[in-house]
Amino acid sequence: MKVGIMGGTFDPVHYGHLLAAEECRRRLDIDKIIFVPTGEPPHKSGRKITPAEDRYAMTLLATAGVLEYSVSRTEVDRKELTHTVDTLREFLDTGIKPEDLFFITGLDAMLSITSWFDYELLPELCTLVTVPRPGYSIKNIDKLPEIIKQNLKVIEIPQFAISSTEIRERARDGRGIRFLVPHLVEIYIESAGLYKDL
Ligand code: ATP
Ligand code: MG
Repeated sequence: MKVGIMGGTFDPVHYGHLLAAEECRRRLDIDKIIFVPTGEPPHKSGRKITPAEDRYAMTLLATAGVLEYSVSRTEVDRKELTHTVDTLREFLDTGIKPEDLFFITGLDAMLSITSWFDYELLPELCTLVTVPRPGYSIKNIDKLPEIIKQNLKVIEIPQFAISSTEIRERARDGRGIRFLVPHLVEIYIESAGLYKDL
């Protein structure tokens, strides 16, 4: 069984994430996509991230009813700092073979991969997959280390110029987020009063 891992803060999950996952699933013949929301960041620097339980709940709502999708609590439940290599190892421990494991990212994330903990081990654990994202040039892949490039698949997708950052700002300003996120995610954001004070 081929498994695709889609990691992210998902604050909130939006159609850019879902389309990226779905296109990779179809093109690579992946059987199951597992969305993995990140846990609470242990350090207090940068912007305040929405509680992991809210981000997890929104990811569940966004993927509910799609048989090929599931959401993992592994990073949400881990108390210590999590790294992608640990998460991938955890999935391999369940019996998935490295050749059947795909780690999917947008191009912005892939271009920063050399800053990830133990990134040079990733090609042994999985196949790396990236999708283009507006604002990031695919040519920059050339600058990535050879070990990453050799293991990387680029999947073309219809590009959505949307980000969670923009959705949070729109929610804060009351500018509307309909059709940028799934309907149930929109309702969750409204009823939980998320992003009111960014
Ligand atoms: P933020 O603005 O808070 O960084 P984001 O929209 O970038 O949010 P993340 O949760 O940071 O979302 O991203 C999770 C993964 O999804 C990353 O690999 C990212 O590159 C990818 N991704 C996010 N938005 C898109 C998009 N519109 N098109 C393609 N990939 C995307
Ligand atoms: Mg991001």
